Amino acid sequence: MYIIAGPCAIENYNQVKEIAEAVKDAGATHFRGGVFKPRSSPDAFQGVGEEGLYLLEPAKALLPVVSEATQIGNVSLIAAAVDIIQVGSRNMHNIELLRAVAQTNKPILLKRGYAALIEEEWLKAAAYIRQAGNNQILMCERGIRTFEPYTRNTLDLAAVGAVHALTAYDVIIDPSHAAGRPELVIPFALAGLAAGADGVMIEVHNNPAHARCDGHQALTPREFADAVPLMKEVYEICCSQ
Ligand code: PEP
Ligand code: MN
Repeated sequence: MYIIAGPCAIENYNQVKEIAEAVKDAGATHFRGGVFKPRSSPDAFQGVGEEGLYLLEPAKALLPVVSEATQIGNVSLIAAAVDIIQVGSRNMHNIELLRAVAQTNKPILLKRGYAALIEEEWLKAAAYIRQAGNNQILMCERGIRTFEPYTRNTLDLAAVGAVHALTAYDVIIDPSHAAGRPELVIPFALAGLAAGADGVMIEVHNNPAHARCDGHQALTPREFADAVPLMKEVYEICCSQ
């Protein structure tokens, strides 16, 4: 079971260290943290960038790390620094980026485009990675755009069964970007695991009110820790079917 947890964006040494220690103690299998951030607004924090890559070190000392490559130009930097390379929702259709990350031979966490069809687009994006010689792919459902604004996106639980039926890839649920509000993050994670997901990726911040990115949907380390035993229980029941 994958339990990937950490801040939307890494900010400074102490933030990374504190969150990595907390999520590891709580049972996380991987640390997540964006170095390069693909933000909707050009005015929003774009990530610490190349000069801040070293800030991942305290997390790397504790757990395998997941972080996003946002363009061909930062693929090799990210590949050298992390264990799993994320391709974000906004980049799922970026064919040249898919080929470039595939060539690193690192596992790829491929987020579903927020308006992508499962079979015709998301799985075809995975096929680009596979055809470039890399079959280590984690499919991440992070919610799709619907007409409903109460949640940031709409978690498409059908994606779990569809990907399992059509491929051998593991499916990770990202309830944080689907919900966009902390009180729904754990219910969405549990629903995804009940639907058969192989793991979750959850945003956790030691000070959500002051987070530079996505603090409005972050869990505190305590909220995350409290939910881990239940997530493991649901996974054990549902993955054995
Ligand atoms: C993220 O996980 O940091 C992220 C930017 O998510 P998404 O690509 O799903 O919007
Ligand atoms: Mn985020």
